[in-house]
Amino acid sequence: MIVALNKPVSTSYSWRVADVREQLKQLIKDVPDFPKEGIVFKDLTPVFLDPVATQAMTRVFADRFHALQVDAIAAIESRGFLIGAPVAAALGVPLALVRKPGKLPRRTIRRSYALEYGEDTLEMHTDAVASGQRVVIVDDLLATGGTANATVELIREAGAEVVEAAFMVELSFLNGRGRLAADVHALVQY
Ligand code: AMP
Repeated sequence: MIVALNKPVSTSYSWRVADVREQLKQLIKDVPDFPKEGIVFKDLTPVFLDPVATQAMTRVFADRFHALQVDAIAAIESRGFLIGAPVAAALGVPLALVRKPGKLPRRTIRRSYALEYGEDTLEMHTDAVASGQRVVIVDDLLATGGTANATVELIREAGAEVVEAAFMVELSFLNGRGRLAADVHALVQY
């Protein structure tokens, strides 16, 4: 079956980073009081409903990581997978999955980190990244930085180098960047 693209991808679309940032900002929706009162949730689902915006974001990240000579991408469950997988495939580098506890079937390393109430844990297979590899961490959104920081520690424990942590969105007012023990890159900041 031949599926027609509903928008021309290569002719009319700009891949300029500034244009991509602007388009993402237009697509991302604020949802007040979700999942609980007082939180303004950034809903990224409209970005993934738009194949041209998703392609543009993928290309912008892939170009950047190519310039940074990245060997592998580590993506954080679950929305990080939506960004990390196409970028790793476009770049031609391995994708390491950083998952919630109990999901990975073989031997893992794990890190727990504090949440507002309680704690959470992330795991990665011991062979997901190789010693000495230059790894970029990818997630959808940087809030307080706890999730990304646990991932930085996992990658370093595996003996790899964290080139940077990259996000579609950064909530700057929460200062996750200040708490992260790695360089931070975000396409869209609030
Ligand atoms: P943190 O560990 O505080 O940096 O939280 C990061 C994770 O929580 C990301 O993977 C996001 O998916 C999610 N998250 C936190 N705050 C928000 C928000 N306001 N809108 C959407 N997702 C959020």
